[in-house]
Amino acid sequence: MSECAQQRAHQRGFAGAKVALQVNYQSGLQYLRQLCGKGGSGGFVGQLQGYFRFPSRDGMPAYITWAIICCMQNTVPQVINHTELARHIKEWGRALGFQAVGIGDTDLGNAEARLMQWLERGYHGAMDYMAKHGTRRARPAELLPGTLRVISLRMDYRPPHAADAWQVINDGEHAFISRYALGRDYHKVLRNRLEKLAQQIRAAVPEAECRVFTDSAPVMEVELAQRAHLGWRGKHTLLLSRERGSWFFLGEIYINLPLPVDTPGEDHCGSCARCIEICPTQAIVAPYQLDARRCISYLTIELKGSIPLELRPLIGNRIYGCDDCQLVCPWNRFAQVTAEPDFAVRHGLDDIALTELFAWDETTFAERFAGSAIYRIGHEQWLRNIAVALGNAPYSEEVVAALQGRAQHPSPLVHEHVEWALQRQARTGNS
Ligand code: SF4
Ligand code: SF4
Repeated sequence: MSECAQQRAHQRGFAGAKVALQVNYQSGLQYLRQLCGKGGSGGFVGQLQGYFRFPSRDGMPAYITWAIICCMQNTVPQVINHTELARHIKEWGRALGFQAVGIGDTDLGNAEARLMQWLERGYHGAMDYMAKHGTRRARPAELLPGTLRVISLRMDYRPPHAADAWQVINDGEHAFISRYALGRDYHKVLRNRLEKLAQQIRAAVPEAECRVFTDSAPVMEVELAQRAHLGWRGKHTLLLSRERGSWFFLGEIYINLPLPVDTPGEDHCGSCARCIEICPTQAIVAPYQLDARRCISYLTIELKGSIPLELRPLIGNRIYGCDDCQLVCPWNRFAQVTAEPDFAVRHGLDDIALTELFAWDETTFAERFAGSAIYRIGHEQWLRNIAVALGNAPYSEEVVAALQGRAQHPSPLVHEHVEWALQRQARTGNS
């Protein structure tokens, strides 16, 4: 009962619950209230009570009264001590399942200059939203007026028991799906936890104004995380940590309090260039510079239209995202498997035949990907991506038959990619 009460209390954002079994439950409640108030750092928030009935030796029913009290032990003293608050925030963040929590300022001047140059070069491709928000992306206070600090958090996502990534990439008949998308949609998981943390901060300091983000608004999350000491921006442009590599998600909380900041993370890429060398499409055009228009993650997820012909053969069997630059990164030898059940592999997506996925109709797609990030690309784009991978697959009658089965698809986008794939299969079969 105690365990269950603790679990429920945590789910609702309380620090804990205490349970008493008392014949005289009034005295039990009094005792629990005292426990909750102990140390002056918390207080009684609410209670539930009831009784158990059971037969006693003389056959008459007997009762034991129970009570559960929830207490907010995480509250901090009313006079704001920003150093103490920062310490609490980091503790609460880790208790909520984040592996690292850091605090940074909002000075993204250098990153803004880089962003503008990147946009001028057109490296953002069809991601018009990157340009649309202008300077708001690099100036947190323009997104949330009054923002003084950004709390950055990271959460591991590498799923346990997933098939070996290189083995799948090298198996042309199977589909490779980016490791982050094998489980449930991380946006929901992270947003929920970030909201809980924001609630804890607001409960502790009513003056705190916070807003949470997770890849959901014009936020330069990698740069903010670097400023918050969570790592550095690797040459592949993702955040890297010496302790955990790069298999993690990032989330942010913008806040209006002058919390003490952490030291920005330092670059540890050194002379390494493995990510640049391995990239199948040479999308990392220079260290720290990504031409998204060539990146397979962009081509399979962000791009809605036709995939450029010259890039299709380079995509191989990667049907949703690409992890090559992370797979070769030496820092990922320190990556840890996630403990989050939501990020566990679903539907065998870590190693599944392309023809099987290509056979899914729209209803199956919607059912299987309910609650998954993949759902957002839609069935049409999904078929487009698989058609490219089937075109790149070793010749087989099964692959040709699967493609022919979609040759009359009503979508011109799917139709065109299927035609391309059939021609490619025919060329491979004749050679
Ligand atoms: S995700 Fe793939 S395509 Fe994009 S930069 Fe990394 S290796 Fe290149
Ligand atoms: S592969 Fe090497 S260069 Fe690329 S991000 Fe990792 S450490 Fe940096």
